[in-house]
Amino acid sequence: MAEKFKNLINGEWKDSKSGNTFENRNPARWNEDLIGIFPSSNEEDVKEAVAAAKKAFEKWRLVPAPKRGDILKLVGDKMNDRKDEIAFEMTREMGKVLAETKGDTQEGIDTAYYAASEGRRLFGHNAPSELPDKLNLSFRAPIGVGGFITPWNFPMAIPTWKMFPALVCGNTCVFKPAELTPKTAATLVEIIDEAIKEVLGKDYIPGVINIVHGKGRIVGEAMIGHPDVDLISFTGSTLVGKRINEVAGGSLKRVSLELGGKNAQIVMDDANLELALDAVLWGAFGTTGQRCTATSRLILHKDIHDEFVAKLAERAKKLRLGYGNDGNVDVGPCVSESQRASVHEYVEIGKNEDKATLLCGGEFADKGDLAKGWFYKPTIFTDVKPGMRIEQEEIFGPVLSVLKCGSLEEGIDILNGTKYGLSSSVFTQDVNAACRAIRDIKAGITYINGATIGAEAHMPFGGVKQTGNGHREGGWTVYDFYTEWKAVYIDYSGKLQRAQIDNY
Ligand code: NAD
Repeated sequence: MAEKFKNLINGEWKDSKSGNTFENRNPARWNEDLIGIFPSSNEEDVKEAVAAAKKAFEKWRLVPAPKRGDILKLVGDKMNDRKDEIAFEMTREMGKVLAETKGDTQEGIDTAYYAASEGRRLFGHNAPSELPDKLNLSFRAPIGVGGFITPWNFPMAIPTWKMFPALVCGNTCVFKPAELTPKTAATLVEIIDEAIKEVLGKDYIPGVINIVHGKGRIVGEAMIGHPDVDLISFTGSTLVGKRINEVAGGSLKRVSLELGGKNAQIVMDDANLELALDAVLWGAFGTTGQRCTATSRLILHKDIHDEFVAKLAERAKKLRLGYGNDGNVDVGPCVSESQRASVHEYVEIGKNEDKATLLCGGEFADKGDLAKGWFYKPTIFTDVKPGMRIEQEEIFGPVLSVLKCGSLEEGIDILNGTKYGLSSSVFTQDVNAACRAIRDIKAGITYINGATIGAEAHMPFGGVKQTGNGHREGGWTVYDFYTEWKAVYIDYSGKLQRAQIDNY
């Protein structure tokens, strides 16, 4: 019997009001492994969760920030204690290999400890007044109820990037995780709620953290349209992000959007080629290419192109596919049947486009045990030209397009030539070239001599152009998103002092 999961609303685990449910299955063992049954919620569940979060906010905002930080510290400790279990279950529900799901969990732990310490900072500024006997201060104030909508590819890290800073700043949460990764989300929420209970004891506040499982176009839509949701933080596709911006922005909610990418790695003729090779294999095929920061384009200097491509194909063919919890596996399955179908559709487009050459892969991997899941062979196209669809559109699977450049400037032009701007990478030994690349690349993240993936929790994460709307996750800047600035003037002169008038 599969385990049955519930929503957490106002401190109580409960079924959806409709009683509807959906299944969560292992993408590497689809028919054999039913992980759990989850509530398929509707607008009524969202309304209840938002009302609980709104009520909880009035108490939670008054809990001193260092105490909220203590709660986040305990959350980090609990995640650390359960790291192996969380990673195993995450691999089971979304397919990436165990080393990567451990990394995903560790990123959540790092984010918890960072947020915990921020409980003792949350610094404001003070400034001199232009008038005598007057004090000018500014404080960060929490905003209210946050709606959090997340994708399946980083089921732990992404929700923690959002909710940990939101909570430590004094906001309350209504969380709608991706339908494909509800179990990791449920564990996270259980841990947060436990930590609130343990630290606050008899002063426990129900409704600080709520989770409502279900479909994006039902639960997600109800959240973005709800007048009592004060902010929305969303990570997912650009298509859905635009819709959220329209609806939530229409009622002037604060909206943070982290969207798609079409990231490239440039390899110059002076680069350490072995290192660049390791990086592109990791960047393109790690998480089966299903990362917003995945390397989906490789731009090779013409003088090393042929040698590099030959080595790359040899190495890509040796990657071991399989169920990520089995060990000795490099690449897991696509997350779902439809994701694999969409990857294959792009491969067909690539094959028919302007004579791109399919170097390896390009088909389902369905021999033996692999037939039980949604596996796809690591795929590489060469002779790709700027502007082709496989060069421009996010594929979100194990497909790499290789292009050629004659100079760093040409490489950067190609790299910059998409509507996205998330991550980027340049391999060169020339410090001057590296600095020019850092200056000229239009992306939120640039790695020098590193893969396009590998963000650290205390650094700002996000992209430019259609990758987002200018906000960042991670690091210190996210605390601006989750707080309002309040300016305070304290006049101790005992008389009415009119700024700009009495002093000039
Ligand atoms: P998606 O946009 O399909 O779904 C993301 C979330 O939005 C899910 O929880 C989904 O249920 C919900 N949703 C769907 N329709 C909705 C609607 N109408 N209203 C409200 N919510 C709705 O994306 P996905 O397939 O889960 O994830 C893959 C995408 O996420 C890729 O485009 C990838 O680049 C992007 N991503 C971006 C980042 C980043 O930080 N920039 C990180 C990870 C993933």
